[in-house]
Amino acid sequence: MLEAVHKKSVWMLLILLACGQLWAAPQVKPIGPGLYAYISDNDSSANSTFLVGSKGILVVDTGFDAKEGGKLLRAIRNVSPLPVLFVVNTHYHRDHQGGNTVVGPLAVVISTHWTRERTLSVMQSSPDSFRPADVTFQDRLTIHLDPYSAEIYFPGKAHTSGDALVYFPQQRAIAMGDLFLNRCSPAMDVGSAENWIRALDQVLAKPLEAVVPGHFELSTKVDLQRFRDYLSDLFQQVKALHDKGAKLEQVRREIHMEKYSDFRQYPQYHATFSDNAETIYQQLEEH
Ligand SMILES: [Zn+2]
Repeated sequence: MLEAVHKKSVWMLLILLACGQLWAAPQVKPIGPGLYAYISDNDSSANSTFLVGSKGILVVDTGFDAKEGGKLLRAIRNVSPLPVLFVVNTHYHRDHQGGNTVVGPLAVVISTHWTRERTLSVMQSSPDSFRPADVTFQDRLTIHLDPYSAEIYFPGKAHTSGDALVYFPQQRAIAMGDLFLNRCSPAMDVGSAENWIRALDQVLAKPLEAVVPGHFELSTKVDLQRFRDYLSDLFQQVKALHDKGAKLEQVRREIHMEKYSDFRQYPQYHATFSDNAETIYQQLEEH
């Protein structure tokens, strides 16, 4: 009898563990009329945003690969059966465009001109089969997905040299790509930290009720402001030391970022406070 009870509790435990796996699913959150944030359950695969118009759907970023793209498409299908007409890639990194073929096999793919060029050159030296943009732009492009619209624009060099941001004016929401990670020091590709801060200030001046970060939890203007302050604090400290003639090693040692001790840091992506300081230092050296 006792043994039977024991076996039963082992089964209960196994079922609870299995449910725990189910709970770690991506989250889809409505953030305005027709607009949804898809918050990835895999930190290595980007978040997405999708807008459902009267005739079709626009998706911003598609995840790391076919598997992550498939998860995103299933989440979209739980909301709407309409066709995916447009895919916007915020930048060329694989975790943002690896699911293009699965999410929008017939969609028009849109990116900055720079992102398309960079994607084509990455494809030459890697086995990844990306689907680069069909339509590119230099400064801005508006997609009319009646009754809504999406304003896509290039804010200047930031995380890379060709990021796109997507603002949804009717919903007062924005998809940030990797220009914003919630409570995290970012990876810095070939871009500009100085212009990145300026770009964030321009975003913060807009009416905003929801901010979709490239990774991690759905955010508000307050979270975005804190990330902007992190970048700005670090930039000011590195610049002051650089202006005094400090060497890189000294800069790495002397930055004080205790205020941001809750931020995630990823050495494997060269994305710690100290790595960010190094990138900023090198950008100042190039000036
Ligand atoms: Zn990125």
